[in-house]
Amino acid sequence: MFRPLASALLWLAFACAPAFAVDAPPADAAVLEAKVREIERLAVTAHWSKSDAAIEALEQQASALTPLQRHRIDFVRLRNRALAGDQPAALKGLADLLKQDLPVPLRVRVYTTATGVAANLEDWPLAFAWLNEGLKYLHDSPAESARLLGAASYLHTLVGETGRARELALQALDNVKQGNDPRALCLALSDVALAEDHAGHFSEAEKWRHRQIDACVRAADPIFIANGKYGVGKMAAAQGHHDEALKWGREALAEFEQVGFAVGAYSARLVIAESLIASNRQLDEAQAMLTDTLRYYRQQKSDLAIAETERLLARLAEKRGDIGKALLHTKQAMAVSEAAEVQARERRLAYLQVQFDTRLKEQQIALLEAEKQVAALQVTATKRWQWLLGLGMAGLLVTAILLSVLLRRSFRQRRRYRWLSEHDSLTRLFNYQQVRKLGEAAFARARDTGRPFTAIVADIDLFKQVNDRYGHAAGDEALCSLGAWISEAVGDNGIAGRSGGDEFTILLEADAAEAEATMQRLRARMEPITVFGQTFRINISSGVCQAGGEAATLEQLVHEADQALYRAKHEGRDRVVRAGEGAATLVPAAGLVVVGSGIQFGRHASERCLSEIREAEVVFCLADPFALAMIHDLRPDVVNLGVHYAPGKDRRDTYRDMDAAIMAQLRAGKQVCAVFYGHPGVFADVPHEVMRKARAEGIPARMEPGISAEACLYADLGIDPGHRGVQSMEATHFLVYDRRPDTAGLVLLWQVALSGDLSCTRLHAEPEGVQALVDRLLRWYPADHEVILYEAARLPIETPRADRLALRDLAAARYEEYTTLVIPPLEGPGGKPGVEQDQLPGS
Ligand code: GH3
Ligand code: MG
Repeated sequence: MFRPLASALLWLAFACAPAFAVDAPPADAAVLEAKVREIERLAVTAHWSKSDAAIEALEQQASALTPLQRHRIDFVRLRNRALAGDQPAALKGLADLLKQDLPVPLRVRVYTTATGVAANLEDWPLAFAWLNEGLKYLHDSPAESARLLGAASYLHTLVGETGRARELALQALDNVKQGNDPRALCLALSDVALAEDHAGHFSEAEKWRHRQIDACVRAADPIFIANGKYGVGKMAAAQGHHDEALKWGREALAEFEQVGFAVGAYSARLVIAESLIASNRQLDEAQAMLTDTLRYYRQQKSDLAIAETERLLARLAEKRGDIGKALLHTKQAMAVSEAAEVQARERRLAYLQVQFDTRLKEQQIALLEAEKQVAALQVTATKRWQWLLGLGMAGLLVTAILLSVLLRRSFRQRRRYRWLSEHDSLTRLFNYQQVRKLGEAAFARARDTGRPFTAIVADIDLFKQVNDRYGHAAGDEALCSLGAWISEAVGDNGIAGRSGGDEFTILLEADAAEAEATMQRLRARMEPITVFGQTFRINISSGVCQAGGEAATLEQLVHEADQALYRAKHEGRDRVVRAGEGAATLVPAAGLVVVGSGIQFGRHASERCLSEIREAEVVFCLADPFALAMIHDLRPDVVNLGVHYAPGKDRRDTYRDMDAAIMAQLRAGKQVCAVFYGHPGVFADVPHEVMRKARAEGIPARMEPGISAEACLYADLGIDPGHRGVQSMEATHFLVYDRRPDTAGLVLLWQVALSGDLSCTRLHAEPEGVQALVDRLLRWYPADHEVILYEAARLPIETPRADRLALRDLAAARYEEYTTLVIPPLEGPGGKPGVEQDQLPGS
């Protein structure tokens, strides 16, 4: 679990450490100084509103404050703004404060806090730039060094440099141990714990968190005590100790709430909800917490935390058996995680920029050193002064040239990094993240000025066919051309970006009619594309939605446009559809296809079966774990129907629960693909039943065949069922309905292990059941008649089972639930029994 927000904000608590060192003031001034110190003390020991109230009380005496005292108070005030949740205002205030003339220790603290706030707002270039500035003062301000190293450790954690993050945190801890400041020790221990947590060392991190709690109790720092408890809870949950996690999470929540630290409180709620869900209790409480937390993280636009909350909501819905909702939350979590990945790349780029700048400066210093040495030589070696002068001049010239080359390269690299982090390199349009960022600002501007604003979502029609027919490289070329046509059509009048795959988002400060006209111009401009001597055309479908109706946010507006796009596709593609027009006529195109995984999914699944799995909106699966794992690779959202089995549960109830899960998705208008082991229509109750139910409700349903165990049997045993005919039935059916075997042909009795199980709950063989079957067969076959116990191989590394034995010995044999009894013919019309003895594998 990765929640940067909570941890970053904790720096704020440090940054206002009490008793800022100043010279002893005169008597009146001493009273004032005492008040300022009291404000600083309250800032780290009480709810932020307390220090805010103390600042307000001091307001009448503001004119008597020294500039430094004003800066110190401003700092506490800005930190309080950030703690209270108004981070943009805090960031702006801190930037202004940094322009003032501040003593080094205070300056370093402001840098540290400002870095934390910038990281919270995900302004990575600014966060790293400030961190870098702050680090310059590391040696001038030893007392602050530990916190600064802590901040550096945190940002390294965020860019994935977990090893370096741990080193920095341990270095900070070493520095702190040399002094005698309990609070500094408390904070340094929290940094080490966080670094261990992000490196995935959960039990180590848990030990550090306990040490942190002890140190923070000694330092009487309520925020970091609560943070320590939250950390213990989080690590306990990561190791599966949910009762313990719940206890620590609840303590942390109560303590965060007491000091008014909203970010911490929401993180603690996630730990509590996760533990409640894992231990399957108080699910209503977990639901309420997660709903509230999701609303908060959406306000904060914190993608990683939103994704985490959505994942927990999905797990909760799954626990409650609401598969549809679980699927929806999982999809939302995946969409937000994608956005978060883009942010992670931005962080990495910002980090690289800072690294690059640092190297550049080191090179500059080295060059200036060379220049100094040249000058020194000039003075001492007077005899060769002319030569040295020339050398010095040359050195200076080289220095200047090198510097300018390096600077030019640095600027170019910087521009390139920034461009890459904001654009999609294939289409050269903005990436989705950037469209959202620029779009939010344009949307707010349009709302403030009352100007029209329209979102368009466009998608290439049947693009998969282009890839299939002309190759992926041709598909890329088509995306590239479309990117250029979109830029040309939109020009400077809007924001255009690739949202992913073959989908594009365009935002225009225009009304829907103008937007539609733009899209029609774009369609007219799209010409045939020629790649590798082949010429083809692409078409696009678009959905258009103007702001002002239902959509109160940019996200909703884009969603409405997406719905209109869906209609454009549904109405035949290659068109522009406006949101709200004829929406009532849209009927969800529910449909069911039932496919078979074969006995070995990797070998037997047909192209058709794979394509149905890929295309469906919802995929269900009832197959062996190997097939399920392979299908999961294709479709991570696959729903396992196997969860409906339970020990002692009547199989017929299990089957009806499976039907119900599939029907619920069909009734919700979804296109469903259900994968069943082997052939979906052979010895399979659920597929036939669910198809019947779907058709009865007017939902189209069809079945694609798969390779059954019977098909494998003929291949493995070398039997041609056409020779003497075959009689194939379930063993229990044979017994219960007193069926007569056709001894002249081949007889196959399936699921012999379950012979005679009328309760439909057994999954193992019982000798009495098998013996009853043998007794019945002895009416027609001699006791020494040779039969075969057959099991198809389920993995490429397995061989099929084909054990030959006398009929009378069947009860003592070993059975699996899928063992089949093969009874070769008695001598009859076709001559000898039909099994070719030498073709049987491994008997
Ligand atoms: P529809 O009309 O319903 O949109 O049909 P479609 O075939 O376009 O279906 P969909 O939009 O779901 O499929 C998008 C396809 O775009 C899937 C993938 O093969 C292809 N695709 C996604 N990204 C790229 C890419 O970067 N290059 C290429 N060549 N193809 C891509
Ligand atoms: Mg498409």
